[in-house]
Amino acid sequence: MAADTSLPLREANLVFGEGSVDCEVMFIGEAPGFHEDQLKRPFVGRGGQLLNDMLKGLGWNREDVYITNIVKRRPPENRDPFPDEIESYKPYLTRQIEIIKPKLIVTLGRFAMNYFVPEAKITRDHGHALMIGETLIFPVYHPAAALRSTQMMEVLRGDFKNIPKVLTGEAIVAGPAPKEPRVEDIGSAGRRGKTKTDERQGSLF
Ligand code: URA
Repeated sequence: MAADTSLPLREANLVFGEGSVDCEVMFIGEAPGFHEDQLKRPFVGRGGQLLNDMLKGLGWNREDVYITNIVKRRPPENRDPFPDEIESYKPYLTRQIEIIKPKLIVTLGRFAMNYFVPEAKITRDHGHALMIGETLIFPVYHPAAALRSTQMMEVLRGDFKNIPKVLTGEAIVAGPAPKEPRVEDIGSAGRRGKTKTDERQGSLF
C-alpha cells in the first residue's frame, strides 16, 4: 500500500490501522488527524483517548479490537475527505475487513457510517445495528464530536455501552438500510429525543 502511487494524499504519512486481527469488533473512523499522522497510528489524539476510555468501560483494551479509518492518510488541515479519496482507499479497507472478518463493525462518525450505509443519517441512525449484506454495522458519533458537546458525549457513551449487546445479538438489528425514521430501540441508552444541537453537530461528523 505504501508503494501505491495511485493513492491520493501521499504527502501525508500512511496510517494503516492497528489492533488484533483475531478480533470480533472493528472500529472504523474517517481519516487520520494531526497526531495520527505524526505517530502513524489511528486514534491517538484526544478522540483516541476517549475511545480508549470507552473501550476500558467495556472491559476491553485497544489491543483487543482493530482500529482503522476509511481514508488512510490525513487530508490537509483535517478537511473532510473527498468522495474520490474515500473511493481510492476502498480496496485497502475492503481487504482489511476480508482478512479480519469482524463480527461487528462500529463506525465512528458519519463518514464511516455513510461508507457502509450511504442513505443513513447519523442523528437518526446512531446506536442502531444494521445488517448490511454479511456485515453487522453499528454507527456511533465520532469521539471528536462528542468532545465538543456534553450532550453528544452522553449519547456516544450510551451507544457504546450497547456494543456488547449488539455483539451477542441481544440488540435488535434492523436492515437492510434505513430509509424511514427508525422505530426500533436497542436499550436504555438515552439516545431518543433528538435535539437541535444533535441535528446541527451531527452534520459535522
Ligand atoms: N479521527 C478519525 O476519524 N480517525 C483518526 O484516526 C483520528 C481522528
